[in-house]
Amino acid sequence: MNNIKKTVEMVKKFASQLKVDGVDCVALCEKRFHPNKLKSRKSDVGDALDKLSRAVAGCRKCQLSKTRKNTVYGEGNPRAKLMFIGEGPGFNEDRLGRPFVGMAGQLLDKIIESMKLKRKDVYITNIVKCHPMIDPAQPDKRGNDRKPTPDEIAVCIPYLEKQIELIKPKVICALGSVAGTTLLKLDIPIGKLRGKFYLYKNIKLMPTYHPAALLRNPDLKKLVWEDVKMMVKELC
Ligand code: URA
Ligand code: SF4
Repeated sequence: MNNIKKTVEMVKKFASQLKVDGVDCVALCEKRFHPNKLKSRKSDVGDALDKLSRAVAGCRKCQLSKTRKNTVYGEGNPRAKLMFIGEGPGFNEDRLGRPFVGMAGQLLDKIIESMKLKRKDVYITNIVKCHPMIDPAQPDKRGNDRKPTPDEIAVCIPYLEKQIELIKPKVICALGSVAGTTLLKLDIPIGKLRGKFYLYKNIKLMPTYHPAALLRNPDLKKLVWEDVKMMVKELC
């Protein structure tokens, strides 16, 4: 038994012998000295992420809150080394409250598998957390998705910044032009931006094509594969 544990045991015994109130306090100290620091960081980050997700669930900071069915906060490993950031929820994501669950999501799952990872190993989220629609009067219409506006991005981005700060990934993969140009503050087409690492607050960031672009143009898959290989190398 190490010294701290010994001392905690002694104080506990002493407190219970004296029938002192506040033995909980000793239990708290014991928790603070828990040897498995990694585990406690994971749950601390998880707790902070959960708290933030509750703030997002109640957020009314922009007009997208009026038409959303669900907020789409993000999901995955709180200690993920790799974080994928898309543009914003679409029709399916709005209904399920989860990121990348439609056709583009299935392709993202394949990309993750090709990296010998599972969805639960990485963290997946978006630039904005509510579904941007072309015609908000028709929320049940398919193909009604649009890119978030600069104003919507500006009010929502602090949530993503906090997620990144908590997760501290080694690599960020920005999926598509909205994610790439927003995070890097560079107004360059995704075809020119992709294929190399940039620094986002000291984190390596790789912009690549959005999986939805790969569905429209499968020829782009080989370029994404090049970017994937660079990310895998960086993660090893
Ligand atoms: N496209 C995105 O950018 N994000 C999603 O969550 C789904 C589709
Ligand atoms: Fe709030 Fe972001 Fe949703 Fe706008 S998009 S309501 S800022 S969570």
